[in-house]
Amino acid sequence: PTERKVCVVGSGNWGSAIARIVGFNAKRHPTLHETVTMYVYEEIIDGKKLTEIINETHENVKYLPGYKIPSNVIAVPDLVEAAKDADILIFVVPHQFIQRICSTLLGKIKPTACGLSLIKGFERAEGGGIELISHVIQKLLRIPVSVLMGANIAQEVAAEKFCETTIGCKDKEMAPVFQDLIQTDNFRVVVVDDVDAVEVCGALKNVVAVGAGIVDGLEMGDNTKAAIIRLGLMEMIKFIEVFYPGCKLSTFFESCGVADLITTCYGGRNRRVAEAFVKSSKTIDELEKELLNGQKLQGPITADEINYMLKQRNMEERFPLMTAVHKICKGEMKPIQLVDAMRSHPEHM
Ligand code: NAD
Ligand code: 13P
Repeated sequence: PTERKVCVVGSGNWGSAIARIVGFNAKRHPTLHETVTMYVYEEIIDGKKLTEIINETHENVKYLPGYKIPSNVIAVPDLVEAAKDADILIFVVPHQFIQRICSTLLGKIKPTACGLSLIKGFERAEGGGIELISHVIQKLLRIPVSVLMGANIAQEVAAEKFCETTIGCKDKEMAPVFQDLIQTDNFRVVVVDDVDAVEVCGALKNVVAVGAGIVDGLEMGDNTKAAIIRLGLMEMIKFIEVFYPGCKLSTFFESCGVADLITTCYGGRNRRVAEAFVKSSKTIDELEKELLNGQKLQGPITADEINYMLKQRNMEERFPLMTAVHKICKGEMKPIQLVDAMRSHPEHM
């Protein structure tokens, strides 16, 4: 079989960490083409193009400073140029940019290409619903898309600290290819076929993490945070029962489920910014700019997307934690009212 060419579409904090792994694996697996392209949204850092900095120093000095990216990973500022020959497209951009990326790529990629989405979030659909990002990519580009989600804080993955991840893939031929592409001694992959559940877990946990940050900001302590995590998990399970029937409960016990929920509620950016939001008089947008140096939050906009759908379907009360997180982010509820939402939770009635 011919070697598969890989393109990493994205180069943020997670994009750069995954490019380290993919570059390393592309060098050692004969079924993969050694050169990996990485689409970089161009910007100027201290008078120099970020793509040039990455290709010369092999470090993404803005989004993942301190970690080398293998030299077989080539930063490319032109999206079509980066992606046009790829057999595997790894999508890893903040979810708000995926529509534009797909419209740029439409008709410009190999028709036989397949995708792996690492993107957590939803997209608003016509008629009041929301759609998973992998479904959006699949529809817009007409290629099959698998997903990868897990307890994977980018910095820790880049530091090669041991962790696990979950790939959701229904294609029996591609599953081992994705595993070869991603797995290392310290980044262990479990493949499951319950693709939608894997992705829903990844998207929803960001909303719960904002809740965790809110109670941290209120200095409520560990028991309250555990209640957020548990009730958040119950709402994630309910969400899948209602909107994605047929998914398996066992998927919540993979890395993409409870494990990602826990790590994000302790170590993630959504948690950190939500805590700062409670302790300051600034907006989430202001704090994102101030604290994250160009990195993007997914939790508050995911809460907004979910609320858009729940409102349309008159279901806000069935998901009080996710609803309260959304309203607190919008300034429509006070942070302390998150505790009221837990106190009167359907789980307690
Ligand atoms: P990030 O938060 O570091 O975002 C910054 C990236 O967005 C940069 O590459 C920047 O160039 C790009 N960008 C900014 N404006 C853009 C535009 N207009 N068009 C295209 N790109 C633009 O990104 P990330 O951490 O790589 O996150 C990508 C996805 O991976 C998200 O869905 C996130 O939830 C998920 N994820 C992140 C982590 C993590 O620890 N960072 C872990 C697992 C999953
Ligand atoms: P944050 O975006 O909150 O940092 O979460 C990262 C993540 O998804 C870890 O798996």
